This record gives sequence, C-alpha cells and structure tokens, in this order.
Amino acid sequence: RAKDSGRGQMCFYEPLMDEKIERGRDLAAEMQGALERGEFHLMFQPIFDLAGERVLSCETLLRWTNRRLGSVSPAEFIPIAEDNGLIVGIGGWVIREACRIASEWPADVKIAVNLSPIQLRSTNLPMVIMSALASSGFAADRLELEVTESVLLDDIEASLAALDAINRLHVRTTLDDFGTGYSSLSYLTKFPFQTLKIDRSFITDLEQSPASVAIVQTVIDLAAKLGMRTVAEGVETQAQLDQLRRTRCDAVQGFLLAHPMPASMVAAMLADGGIKAQQRS
Ligand code: C2E
Ligand code: MG
Ligand code: MG
Ligand code: MG
Repeated sequence: RAKDSGRGQMCFYEPLMDEKIERGRDLAAEMQGALERGEFHLMFQPIFDLAGERVLSCETLLRWTNRRLGSVSPAEFIPIAEDNGLIVGIGGWVIREACRIASEWPADVKIAVNLSPIQLRSTNLPMVIMSALASSGFAADRLELEVTESVLLDDIEASLAALDAINRLHVRTTLDDFGTGYSSLSYLTKFPFQTLKIDRSFITDLEQSPASVAIVQTVIDLAAKLGMRTVAEGVETQAQLDQLRRTRCDAVQGFLLAHPMPASMVAAMLADGGIKAQQRS
C-alpha cells in the first residue's frame, strides 16, 4: 500500500509498518505457550430460527486474553497463528472444548466451530474431530464446521477431499462469509456444504439497497434448490430481520438477537426453555 501512494509517501508509512511488524512479533512470541497458560476461552453466539424463538445452534468464537498484551481480537491473532502454525493446536483445542461444552446442552441445539484453512488441510483433522466427539460423547451431526470461501479456491481438490472426509464422519459443514470471496455461484454445486452463511455485508445493505435484497433472495432460493440451509449473519436491526423474514432464510444470527456470550449464559438461556431472542442489543 505504501508503494501505491507514491515515493513521497514512503517515509510517512514506514514507522507505521514498523509498528505493525513489531506488534506481530510480540503477538507471535506471546502466543507460544498461551494455550498451556490457559489464556484462551470461548464465547458462543446463538443462531435462531427465523421467528427468533428457538436456538438452533451457537457459533463458537475464540477469545485470547494475554498476560502482557491484554485482550486481542481473533481478526488480529488468527492470521498470525496461521503463519506460525500454532492454529492447528489452538484450533484442535477449540473443537474439543466446544464439543465438551455443547454436550451439556439440549440435544436439538447444534454447535458451530470456525475452521482455518490450515486446519482444513491438516492430515490429522479427522482424528482430531473423532477424538473430540468420542471424549465428549457429543453426536457428530450436532457439530457444524465453518469454512470461508477463499479457502476452497486455493486448492480445490484438497479442499474437496477434506470436506468429504468431514462429511463422512457425519459432521456438518457450513460455507461462511458467503459472497465476500471470488467464487461463483456454480461452486456451490461442487462442494458438499449443508449450510450457507450469507456475509454480514449483504445483510447490512438490505435496508438501503434493493440490489442487495435481490442478491440475498437469489442466494437463498438457489441454496434451497441445492438442498442447503441458509443463515444470515450480522443482523443488527429490526428492519433487516423483517426483510429476512420476507426472503425466508432458515436462520438468523446477529447483535439484534444476541451477542456472543459465555458458556454459562448459553446454558442458562437454553435451560429456560422457550427462549426468545432479546430483540435489542
Ligand atoms: P466469523 O466466523 O464470520 O464470525 C462472526 C463475527 O461477527 C464474530 O466476530 C462476531 O462476534 C461478529 N458478529 C456477530 N454478530 C454481529 C453483528 O450483528 N454485527 C457485527 N458488527 N458483528 C457481529 P469475532 O468473534 O471478532 O470473530 C471474527 C472472526 O475471527 C470470525 O468471523 C472468524 O473468521 C474468526 N474466528 C473466531 N473464532 C475462531 C476460531 O476459533 N477459529 C478460527 N479459525 N477462526 C475464528
Ligand atoms: Mg464463522
Ligand atoms: Mg461469518
Ligand atoms: Mg464474518
């Protein structure tokens, strides 16, 4: 980016670049041993049916609070964990911990876990999944693994093989952040996803943009024809929810309905029975 803005701008950006590199090194160093020190924990964001009455699933969201650097967002630390390979160990812990926690929930509630491309292509992923299911006694078909679009295009054959291996375990797969990558709708027919999660950017635009309404409607209809369920992520307003009810996706997730919350709060919410979404943020 510094190059794009021309030679005169270079020195302006350099200190910032240095800071970024410095921060990256700091995070990478602190990440060593962070798992053993118990610095990671999980939050869960409920995914509701369209009426907002029933929790269908909860998405597992990883949190890191470092002894020195404080709380670091996954958007910042996951790319670093992918670079240094620690994501495989950390991600394995997330799968095990998520299954353990969700095994306490009512049997009609699923759990979604985000999967890094590095994890998807690691040869021991099926073993990691099987052992997480076995040690928790959690049913395979209640586990949903989310992967983003960009993952698939890097290496289509390897991605397909990995997704097939997951599906053979009866674990479900979700295409996350759909619409942000470069894949075309035709890819949907190639990959064995049970669920398609429409990216927040389309949901945000629903109110202002008739084009977004048309896109979302088209995606939902196509997904239905291909036998996939659809989830709208990042629902923040009542108007967006009303629009989604007209376009009839299968499930909704977002701050309007519920924020990510600790496991204890999910358990209390589910134990309450007829859960209604908060309908506010
Ligand atoms: P994602 O999988 O698309 O997860 C949804 C993100 O959107 C979460 O951010 C969630 O807190 C946020 N979100 C949910 N509803 C709303 C809303 O209504 N409005 C807005 N503005 N945001 C909303 P978070 O927790 O910061 O995670 C960011 C990303 O980090 C995730 O995006 C996912 O790609 C990645 N991530 C999180 N946990 C893990 C993990 O365990 N493993 C891997 N590989 N990636 C993870
Ligand atoms: Mg996700
Ligand atoms: Mg997403
Ligand atoms: Mg996202």
